[in-house]
Amino acid sequence: MAKGRVVFYEESDRPTAPPRTVYTNQARRQRRKRRRRGRRLLFALALLVVVSSVGYVLWYTHSPADSVISDADRDQVESDTGGSADSTDLTAAAAEPADGRIVVAIDPGHGGVNPNIGAEDYGSEANGLRESEVTLATALALYDLLAADDRFAPVLTADGTTYLKPSERGAVAAQAGAQLFLSIHLNYDSSASSNGFECYAAPPALSTNAESVRFGQLVARAFSDLGLHLRGTNGVRYLYYDANDNKQIYESTDTTVRWDPTFTVLQASGCPAVLCEEGFISNSGDMALLAGEDGCQAAAQAYYDCICSYFSLT
Ligand SMILES: [Zn+2]
Repeated sequence: MAKGRVVFYEESDRPTAPPRTVYTNQARRQRRKRRRRGRRLLFALALLVVVSSVGYVLWYTHSPADSVISDADRDQVESDTGGSADSTDLTAAAAEPADGRIVVAIDPGHGGVNPNIGAEDYGSEANGLRESEVTLATALALYDLLAADDRFAPVLTADGTTYLKPSERGAVAAQAGAQLFLSIHLNYDSSASSNGFECYAAPPALSTNAESVRFGQLVARAFSDLGLHLRGTNGVRYLYYDANDNKQIYESTDTTVRWDPTFTVLQASGCPAVLCEEGFISNSGDMALLAGEDGCQAAAQAYYDCICSYFSLT
């Protein structure tokens, strides 16, 4: 029982209280004083209960939402680009570029001297190939195809000479008002038998999710037609970094909204975005299809066809 309630009963039900008629003035004053003290105590207790209840309700109803926003903010800070508000604006602005051409950003994975390791960023290497060289050759071939088509205004995020962080690559695309972002990579595994195509689309937490998946599905189908095995359910997946920076992969059929960070470029580009792991550099079968002049040209043509389909162009 609370201390205040004990005081209350002592005040009102005191069995030894003398009859009202024999109170002296001094006794009456003391009795009134004790009653006032009791009422003050009761009021303070009630106030404490009300304030605690309101505080708890506010904490309970606002805390989870606030923490979600914090996670989202953290993603945006990590992307170094100002986040989804900017992205939305840029996407909207890019809907009608000044000259009417569609801006497509092509991101050749890796290349340039990475100051963090003090060496050239070749990406993965196997079968006498460097990932950065295959991705750049493919990106340049795609650039030429798009540049020769006056409906498109292609943009390269990097040219292999200068190292750019993923956030900087995404920022190049965002600043150009890109309407579609394609990052080109090759996969690697210590087992030479691992093979196949997979691409990572902007995940459900981003407003560009649905359109990213739509483009990813077109690309997966095109690479399947090239002869690549599709990994996972249909080759289109989501990647997240967990709290320990370990990669977590989910199929694009899993529409759960997760706030963990994904590939920075997918968010930083501010438009529908896909990162393709075309095939395994460590698998000779995949590289027979994708490396070399013919392989890079075939991949570029597949991307070009998908970009036309994505924008409903023939
Ligand atoms: Zn890579």
